[in-house]
Amino acid sequence: MATTLHAKTIVWFRRDLRVADHHALTAAIERGGPVLAVFVRDAQVDALGAAAQWRLGAGLAAFRETLQALGNRLILRSGEAQETLQNLVAETGATAVYWSRAYDPESKTRDAAVKNSLKAQGVEARSFSGHLLFEPWKVVTQTGGFYRVYTPLWNAVKDIEIARPLPALRQIPSPDRWPRSEPLESWNLGASMQRGAAVVRRYACIGEIAAQDRLEKFIADAIADYQTNRDKPALSATSGLSENLTFGEISPRICWNAGLRARHEGKRGAEKFLKELVWREFAYHLLHHTPHIMTENWRPEWDAFGWSEDEDHPHITAWKRGRTGVAFVDAAMRQMYVTGTMHNRGRMIVASYLTKHLMFHWKIGKKWFDECLIDWDPASNALGWQWTAGSGPDAAPYFRIFNPDTQLEKFDPERAYVNAWIAEGQANPPQTALDYFAAIPHKWGLDPDVAYPEAPIVSLPEGRQRALAAYEARKF
Ligand code: FAD
Repeated sequence: MATTLHAKTIVWFRRDLRVADHHALTAAIERGGPVLAVFVRDAQVDALGAAAQWRLGAGLAAFRETLQALGNRLILRSGEAQETLQNLVAETGATAVYWSRAYDPESKTRDAAVKNSLKAQGVEARSFSGHLLFEPWKVVTQTGGFYRVYTPLWNAVKDIEIARPLPALRQIPSPDRWPRSEPLESWNLGASMQRGAAVVRRYACIGEIAAQDRLEKFIADAIADYQTNRDKPALSATSGLSENLTFGEISPRICWNAGLRARHEGKRGAEKFLKELVWREFAYHLLHHTPHIMTENWRPEWDAFGWSEDEDHPHITAWKRGRTGVAFVDAAMRQMYVTGTMHNRGRMIVASYLTKHLMFHWKIGKKWFDECLIDWDPASNALGWQWTAGSGPDAAPYFRIFNPDTQLEKFDPERAYVNAWIAEGQANPPQTALDYFAAIPHKWGLDPDVAYPEAPIVSLPEGRQRALAAYEARKF
């Protein structure tokens, strides 16, 4: 359909709650007419874990303010996306619907159906890049395939010139009449977090402005030593941007350009930061080309492995509650409950302990992360679990079993991380450790005076032997 100067454009926001460096929004403004910023609460939103849903609600509230400051509004509707957008088009007379691409299989199916139906209605329907640095189908191996190993992908993309981020917007044209919007508060997003939400809120960094401040602070204070300090979980040595990147409050291109500038200025850790951003790209590359990574063993031979799938086992309960008796594991699990995030080293340790020492399926652990992480990301979470468990692409070999105690000696020798998160046994526990008891459900029946387990639920040597024996006995 031909566009006119005053034709309205709907921008359908999903995991892109920002106005800076936003291709779809910028294209909508360039189209010339008023812009309707819309978020649809569909089944995918309802399927999010409690923490991610809560974080989305907080992100939407911040985004609403950002839009207001630019003279626009956020229109909220609930329902099936296709029907909701079609109705909005009919109500408002919009002649185009734009959005930023998503890459998980459910979104791809939904978005393709939305695009077809809108086009059939005579509406211009366009998707744009923005969630990634490189579209997964544009980066190909020499034989035209996709990358299954990280390092060759890094080598292929590290020197590609990435355009500078789009300039900040000063105003977003608004329509004469606003369509109806549902009150965000009525959605009650993340209500199932209950009292945990108030605790996590104190640690979260919500919205586009906060994300940009966080990036600036990281570049100024921490990126130089990122390579050496990023594995020390007691330090604030990483960017903390995962919660913002996952909801698109900052674009990967803004992060990439900041990293490039830092490298140019001679900040030593900058290259490592760029490499981590490409781990995120790798995760999406794999999600696009092998979507089963979210739900099934990436290497099907692992279907025959003897992992337990008993979700109700007491060892699972102990693992979830940070009461395995293994200090590094318990500290990390509590950090996740209090902050909604976990240090990367902690993620690897708890995933390894669950899938190797305890011999439970990675799907159980991934499901708990889906529920508890405010930086939950469909691609990075799936890759992280399968990488650690050994069933994934470019994975840590199964026989390489992290020893949480040795890891503690190496990365937290002063036990600062453990003390930050485990209150039991400390005369004056810090607020972080006490916050765990404020965040957990009452029905868990835990408080700082309930004695910490005297011994690990499965000792490290015993767990290691059992895992190695299972690996030796495997049928593949
Ligand atoms: P920084 O060290 O500052 O890195 C900058 C950015 O690079 C991160 O924000 C992230 O977007 C990306 N990045 C860094 N490491 C990785 C990685 N290993 N894989 C993919 N991207 C990476 N990350 C998520 O964003 N969401 C998840 O749900 C998630 N689940 C994970 C589960 C497991 C079992 C494991 C082992 C890792 C998981 N990760 C996940 C990856 C990683 O732990 C986090 O991205 C990182 O801890 C976020 O902290 P940060 O923002 O300070 O990262």
